[in-house]
Amino acid sequence: YLAKEGRTGVEFYLPAKDRNSPERLSLLGDLRRAIDADELDLHYQPKVSLEDGRVESVEALLRWCHATRGPVSPVDFIPLAEQSYLMRELTRHVIQRALRQAARWWHAGIRVPISVNISARDLLDSGLRDQLETGLARLELPAEAIQLEVTERILMTDQAYSADTIRTLAGLGIQLSLDDFGTGYSSLVRLQRLPVAEVKIDASFVRRLVESSDDERIVRSIIDLVRSLGLRSVAEGVESHEIATRLREMGCHAGQGWWLAMPMPADEATTWLRGRLSRAFRDRDTGGAVA
Ligand code: C2E
Ligand code: MG
Ligand code: MG
Ligand code: MG
Repeated sequence: YLAKEGRTGVEFYLPAKDRNSPERLSLLGDLRRAIDADELDLHYQPKVSLEDGRVESVEALLRWCHATRGPVSPVDFIPLAEQSYLMRELTRHVIQRALRQAARWWHAGIRVPISVNISARDLLDSGLRDQLETGLARLELPAEAIQLEVTERILMTDQAYSADTIRTLAGLGIQLSLDDFGTGYSSLVRLQRLPVAEVKIDASFVRRLVESSDDERIVRSIIDLVRSLGLRSVAEGVESHEIATRLREMGCHAGQGWWLAMPMPADEATTWLRGRLSRAFRDRDTGGAVA
């Protein structure tokens, strides 16, 4: 009941007739080569506590600069990959890269979890758990160093197997986050049954929070619902100071968005995180809060 029709922002399923269009097939082929040639990059966007400014985690977001087309948005190539065997490989690649970055940060004293987006179909991959478990062990990382984001749509599929995978991952100590919440028609009963720790309110509701009373009501009800289930709420699309302030008043735990921090390449994110952590340390010593 939280969803608004036609407001999902992202069209995930193109008409079947377009599925095998030469355009799409050629992009898929290019993506396949891009994975092999390591031409994909991860950018990192912090999730920041609205209560005390602490960095709670950083989300890994795929970036692809195509040799001739220029930058291709994940909004365009992820749905394409999701309809093919490539998604599994793409996710493995992203997890491998994210684990390596997590190890760099973690062992340098920057103990901030990296959250990785996975698609619903990845939960059917029995290798996912093994990759995470082995990777964490090999890099001497605790399970808290990695989190996973899976979209709300997972709740609409009736796959007992996915729920099992989620429980297994949670059993390892890997935190699950429910992404893009409010865009699907999901059952609250299912939400309650899954071991998710965090719910991310979709940017399409958050962005117009200040101008639209409809959106404000939706966001408020999600925050209240999430709180009543004992979970944490994270708002996506925090584009202004006003939005951050309003969310904070509504009791939203954390936020993510351009006003708080942009997605950044790894080296820039490292500098940003170091700055934030030393500032938090300083403020703790002086008893002040971080804005
Ligand atoms: P998402 O997981 O919901 O990620 C949030 C998107 O919002 C990102 O777009 C981010 O750059 C953008 N964003 C950040 N701050 C703001 C803001 O203040 N306002 C607005 N309007 N948008 C903001 P991006 O990077 O283009 O990614 C789009 C989607 O592609 C992601 O949505 C996610 O579903 C998917 N995606 C990205 N990387 C991966 C990946 O490695 N694996 C999978 N499976 N999906 C990915
Ligand atoms: Mg996400
Ligand atoms: Mg999201
Ligand atoms: Mg979103």
